[in-house]
Amino acid sequence: MSTAHHPIAIIGAGLGGLTLARVLHVNGIEAAVFDLEADRDARTQGGMLDIHEETGQAALRAAGLHERFRERVHPGGEAMRVLDRHARVLLEEADDGDGGRPEIDRGDLRDLLLDSLPEGAVRWGSKITGARRAGAGAYEVTLADGTAFTAGLLVGADGAWSRIRPLLSDAVPAYTGISFVEMDLFEADARHPECAELIGGGMFFALGDHRGFLAHRESDGSLHIYAALRAAEDWLSTIDFTDAGAAKAALAEHFTDWAPGLRRLITDADGAPVPRLIHALPVGHHWERTPGVTLLGDAAHLMSPFAGEGANLAMIDGAELGTGPVAVLGTSFGGWIAAETALRDRGGHVGRLVLMDAIGPVVPGHPIAVPGRGPGGPSSPQTPVGEPSGLPPGGPRPAAMEALRAYGGADMGDPGLLERLRAVSCPVLVVWGENDRVAVPDYGRAYAAAFDDARFELVPGAGHLPIREQPAATFAVLDGFLG
Ligand SMILES: Cc1cc2nc3c(=O)[nH]c(=O)nc-3n(C[C@H](O)[C@H](O)[C@H](O)COP(=O)(O)OP(=O)(O)OC[C@H]3O[C@@H](n4cnc5c(N)ncnc54)[C@H](O)[C@@H]3O)c2cc1C
Repeated sequence: MSTAHHPIAIIGAGLGGLTLARVLHVNGIEAAVFDLEADRDARTQGGMLDIHEETGQAALRAAGLHERFRERVHPGGEAMRVLDRHARVLLEEADDGDGGRPEIDRGDLRDLLLDSLPEGAVRWGSKITGARRAGAGAYEVTLADGTAFTAGLLVGADGAWSRIRPLLSDAVPAYTGISFVEMDLFEADARHPECAELIGGGMFFALGDHRGFLAHRESDGSLHIYAALRAAEDWLSTIDFTDAGAAKAALAEHFTDWAPGLRRLITDADGAPVPRLIHALPVGHHWERTPGVTLLGDAAHLMSPFAGEGANLAMIDGAELGTGPVAVLGTSFGGWIAAETALRDRGGHVGRLVLMDAIGPVVPGHPIAVPGRGPGGPSSPQTPVGEPSGLPPGGPRPAAMEALRAYGGADMGDPGLLERLRAVSCPVLVVWGENDRVAVPDYGRAYAAAFDDARFELVPGAGHLPIREQPAATFAVLDGFLG
């Protein structure tokens, strides 16, 4: 059995999983994506999607793909017609080109995301059968071919029947009481002119008496139709979908009191109709935050398609998960950079800040004892044997110190920093080695007191680099804060 390890594994190469992988990629983080489909062309992707400004489009901006998305938008696709069952027009809107919900073919959108990922990022033909916690900090994922891998962070983006969801929640999708039958009319203007005129250039709805048609003109000139009915869960199973003619006739039976033009959307359909039961997760579905595993898209909040939100939400889930908020952690000079990063974070990307024996501010009465500065310095010969200095013998290399002074000045500190730290809005942990002689614990206490929301933790027996000198105690403090 394979024991490959992936720091980040995304299960599902749908719009949600691919958006997450892409946003991570543009942020310099690679993830492995697993999908059960044999390859990217294994099945057609279905109809048009309108991509909303605040969700789907925001996600595409985060993915650096918004301009390329606009090039693929279906012109005229935002037009809309709403009819009643007698084919009377209730609402008609043209596409004036400035709507906030441009339409794109789902396959084109998926291709855009797939083409933006590094070669081999998606492992096709990888059907996940289950996942379990495998000790601290890892999950083991099993595949249908008998192999397995572990993941440091596991994301269930595997849709309605997620194999990852059971790690977090007992919820299962329930039938909504609505059944769909999906059909196509190809080359509509030439072969089905009356239906093409009825549907118009974009979206189409004809609704009434717990039944209806939802349709769309596709970018290839075909019409994509969903006939929808409120029906018992087993109704679709009473129809023989292997016989296209019989299936269409059985479906049309439910629309005998509808206008003939609307019934033709069923009877004139090309190819075999496809049955679809519409399921949803309970409204408000949620789970306890669990380190190392999460869900997005339909795996997290499967809903009926009537809101036209599912794909949009899957994409914004992926974008938000890929961009943070993250925990920023810095030690010594790195802590100074971390503090400045949190101060400059305008987008709420820093969720938590950890400073370990950090330098940065000028704290009156507690100057930084710059390493290698002569007798009494933390790495000088006077450092008592056995006392952790946390620094390499002889102190840092001169070139490193020169670089530090170029940034930090002669005093290695910013006199205005303490005052500015009040502006940091995220929770802060300040960790300090009990025996630090570069920056003494009282310097750390003053640092912590300058934030609005900070905790100070002393690590016994550690010097300037507690993570090296007392790793177990330091990680215990970090785990308590980061979870
Ligand atoms: C009829 C219909 C019409 C819709 N119309 C719209 C619309 O107009 N607008 C809109 O925003 N939304 C619409 N939706 C909803 C939308 O399709 C979904 O919300 C969206 O596709 C969810 O994306 P996802 O990435 O979370 O999951 P999915 O798109 O379901 O992707 C999941 C991926 O995981 C893979 N996978 C599944 N199980 C496994 C496994 N065990 N191992 C490995 N891989 C696995 C699948 O192959 C798939 O590639 C519609 C839905 C339906 C049913």
